[in-house]
Amino acid sequence: MGKLDGRVVIVTGAARGQGEQEARLFREEGAEVVVADVLDEQGHGLAKEIGALYVHLDVGREEEWGAAVDAVVEAYGRVDGLVNNAGILRFNTLLDTPLDEFMQIVKVNQAGCFLGIKAVAPRMSDGGTIVNTASYTGVTGMAYVGAYAATKHAIVGLTRVAALELADRGIRVNAMCPGAIDTAMSNPDAAPDGATDALYRKLVPLGRIGRPEEVARLALFLTADDSSYITGQPFVIDGGWLAGVSIV
Ligand code: NAD
Repeated sequence: MGKLDGRVVIVTGAARGQGEQEARLFREEGAEVVVADVLDEQGHGLAKEIGALYVHLDVGREEEWGAAVDAVVEAYGRVDGLVNNAGILRFNTLLDTPLDEFMQIVKVNQAGCFLGIKAVAPRMSDGGTIVNTASYTGVTGMAYVGAYAATKHAIVGLTRVAALELADRGIRVNAMCPGAIDTAMSNPDAAPDGATDALYRKLVPLGRIGRPEEVARLALFLTADDSSYITGQPFVIDGGWLAGVSIV
């Protein structure tokens, strides 16, 4: 018996990184998985390997959400879960951030999440689940990622409101707030292990960067019945980074 037997779950941004691990784990746990991304080649490849459906979906485009949900319902007859995982990160000081760059991040991270809830919830089975991917920077500040942090704080707010508005249908909505996780986003140039290890040994109480598989297990918990009485909450998964600082 898998924890997601009989359920149909869409994971956005699932071609690589955390979304890929969520797609793999959900499939192992018995779900029909929909891999949605703009990286068509990687997304198709993963879907073929794990026996999932691939749909091209730019999460910032409302019309693409409509077509994606149509394709899911046509393939499986239902949708029970959504993991809003797709996201982008840009480094800049607030004062140097052009409005276009700010709005691009808002469109993917924040509007992408909003559009996902708006497109999927009306067609989702009662008792379904939505997991939004916020961030450590959705609950505290971080210099040089102002636009990103603004969208991640917004996702925590969206999560709470969606939880309130969808509770009467038994649809639960929660958010994940990962700290530093070892994916292409946090380590785009694939810096040698030594440099990354030293940084996170210093910053993170547990002394290491997180693994995308660890975030996938939190997404599974929030999607499965194990979390049946939990809704409207942000869950920090950061190796203790947010707990505070050490002076020694
Ligand atoms: P990643 O860059 O490996 O994966 C992001 C995925 O989103 C990619 O497959 C990408 O193609 C997809 N994507 C980007 N724009 C898209 C769009 N418009 N429509 C559809 N798909 C799109 O990074 P990741 O670390 O796996 O990130 C996953 C989520 O976790 C993101 O929301 C990110 O902000 C969040 N997050 C990451 C970290 C970290 O340290 N890696 C920490 C906190 C939160």
